[in-house]
Amino acid sequence: MTQAIVLSKDGDTFRAEVRAISEAELAAATPDDDVVLAIDYSTINYKDGLALTNTSPVVRKWPMVAGIDGAGTVASSRSDRWNPGDKVVINGWGLGETHWGGLSQRTRVKGDWLVRVPAAYSTRDAMAIGTAGYTAALSVLALQAHGVVPSQGEVLVTGATGGVGSVAVALLASLGYSVVASTGKSAEADYLRSLGAKDIIDRATLSSPGKPLQKERWAGAIDSVGGATLANVCAQARVGGTVAACGLAGGMDFPSTVAPFILRGVTLAGIDSVMAPLPRREAAWSLLAAHLPSARLATITREIPLAGAFEAARDILAGRVRGRIVVDVNR
Ligand code: NDP
Repeated sequence: MTQAIVLSKDGDTFRAEVRAISEAELAAATPDDDVVLAIDYSTINYKDGLALTNTSPVVRKWPMVAGIDGAGTVASSRSDRWNPGDKVVINGWGLGETHWGGLSQRTRVKGDWLVRVPAAYSTRDAMAIGTAGYTAALSVLALQAHGVVPSQGEVLVTGATGGVGSVAVALLASLGYSVVASTGKSAEADYLRSLGAKDIIDRATLSSPGKPLQKERWAGAIDSVGGATLANVCAQARVGGTVAACGLAGGMDFPSTVAPFILRGVTLAGIDSVMAPLPRREAAWSLLAAHLPSARLATITREIPLAGAFEAARDILAGRVRGRIVVDVNR
């Protein structure tokens, strides 16, 4: 039997619990999958917070094993790509939404969804990064693809103490960018500086509706907040700058105008981690392995047992989490 966090619905009654699922139940829920994975670690991302508290419709099939991420060892495989013993990581692909997920000691997935854990990392490190960190890396790749280089000037990271934000700050700083971190947690300024931020701004300076074009400041930006913040970041982007939009922690709306795009040639790059193709995933993981050492990850991570996921879910939605949470699914 496998211990897992199972989400279920009976009419309007939502239930989230740790319970045992059998190999037969798992196989019946994942009939087309060719790799059985023994999971070491999972994580709590913002989306896991939404799913575990039934706050927004993340889960589209019931019952559902929660968890959009997992890292562990291939237990058995009918895929040509994998052999038993391989260390692998999985992010997204509908895990925890339409496909049984990673907050579980065991899962079954498609071999084509898996990425090898880089040699520089353990499976725990891979989950210290998780979807949040891999999304930060996708965002950095998008800035690079649009020609944002360190010599062009400051790069902004919003939601900086969060999971995406912490990894984005550390990764950009390690790549030589001059990083400005926007945060609502002034007490975490030293934490952000320790990750490599050269300047900190109060997120309140970005959260109210502003003019369509403002003083140019950012050569690039990674925004995990959305709403008026994203609109202001675009309005402050420099001529030819790029803004990677990856999140909605502050809102789903985008009260902007076309002015930054047609008068300053600003690029708004959308980042979707869930269905990103395999080569882009592998590029993101390679970038992380080359520029974000395991020791640096330790400073942004705390670990909890499987049953701790419920409290962590409430904390992440309330904005009380700093950095990343790793879940030891076997504890
Ligand atoms: P976290 O909760 O760890 O981080 C979000 C951060 O945003 C918080 O730490 C806080 O940072 C800031 N924040 C929270 N609430 C508000 C608010 N009301 N207004 C302004 N800032 C706020 O979440 P993650 O880093 O895991 O995810 C961040 C966002 O990115 C989420 O919306 C998530 O859904 C999205 N995401 C999208 C992905 C994709 O594929 N596009 C993949 C992964 C995540 P601070 O206190 O420092 O300001």
